[in-house]
Amino acid sequence: MAPADFPRLDFRSDTRTVPDARMRAATAAAEVGDDVYGDDPTVALLEERVAALLGTEAALLTPTGTMANLLAPLAASGPPGSPAPRLIAGADTHMAFLEAEGLRRFGGMELLPVEQRPDGLPDLDALAALLSTAADAPTVVCLENTSMMRSGNALDAAATRAVAALAHRYGAHFHLDGARLANAAVALGVPLAELAEPADSVTFSVSKGLGAPVGGLLCGSRDHVARARELRGRLGGSLHQAGVVAAPALVALDRLPELAADHETAAALASGLASVPGVELMRPARPTNMVMARIAGLTPGECADRLAGHGVRVLPLPNGYVRFVTHRAHDMIGVREAVRALAAVAATVSVARLTTDGDRPGPGLSLTSMEEA
Ligand SMILES: *Cc1c(COP(=O)(O)O)cnc(C)c1O
Repeated sequence: MAPADFPRLDFRSDTRTVPDARMRAATAAAEVGDDVYGDDPTVALLEERVAALLGTEAALLTPTGTMANLLAPLAASGPPGSPAPRLIAGADTHMAFLEAEGLRRFGGMELLPVEQRPDGLPDLDALAALLSTAADAPTVVCLENTSMMRSGNALDAAATRAVAALAHRYGAHFHLDGARLANAAVALGVPLAELAEPADSVTFSVSKGLGAPVGGLLCGSRDHVARARELRGRLGGSLHQAGVVAAPALVALDRLPELAADHETAAALASGLASVPGVELMRPARPTNMVMARIAGLTPGECADRLAGHGVRVLPLPNGYVRFVTHRAHDMIGVREAVRALAAVAATVSVARLTTDGDRPGPGLSLTSMEEA
């Protein structure tokens, strides 16, 4: 049996990438100031480079992607005392699972979840229906790309523009949660800026597959980012010598094209898992670095526990699947090992259990199982 927590066999998330020697050296050599006073040159360089990559006027370093997602709707809100915007987000998104509660508490915002199509795009009729009720209420519409619960499906610029056009028709602010937008850009073979262009604000992350230890960035207009910078301080997210985390993030930006290798690993994993009897995969149209699988008769929690018994770590999800995310620590040896482990688990599922309903999400799948998303 393989040892537990062996990085090659840990497929829970691409957040589990660790800073390598070059990133650590960059931290050691980083020129720093005090970013709260606006004079940390390494942070300034990172913000400039990310804004240029995404084609926005400005960018703001945040400790996490979560904080960038909190700041975008807060910064899109009116001055203190004005009505809180409605928050419209896909029901199966990071915003709905992990930011909506914070936005309710800190911003008084109510989440209006919208059903998503299999590709992750919000159902446009349902979105239009939500927007047209109380059409003049301030509103923030959110879109996620890649789509976390749709097996990392990448949405193209046309899909993004369709949501943007609808949001803008009703005067809403359109926020793109692009924590994995780099994966989408690489999978689609388009510049990041093309996918970001329709949005009023974009969350970007350097600590997923790009491998930096820390860092989200909120990108948008100069005004939006200036408001977010002020609010970041209010939320306690302004870091003084943040150059030490901006430096490895700059290294991460050089590695955008390398995400293609993670996608190849995921494709190899998907084709291996597809050959296992009793295993069903979610099949995204534009796959990136995720594979979602289920075994009829096992809840995601049971499946994850049994895989862990073979040294393979996956994340059980509330949508009935377990999630494999591939990243730079993975290789074909790990892929073969993971396929073998899932085959062994599937083989133990009895015929009797195969007759139970595998569609039901298992118990114990709550926000906790999403915390590492
Ligand atoms: C990971 C992720 C976030 C949050 O980023 P953290 O840095 O982990 O807080 C937000 N949205 C999506 C789609 C993500 O995948």
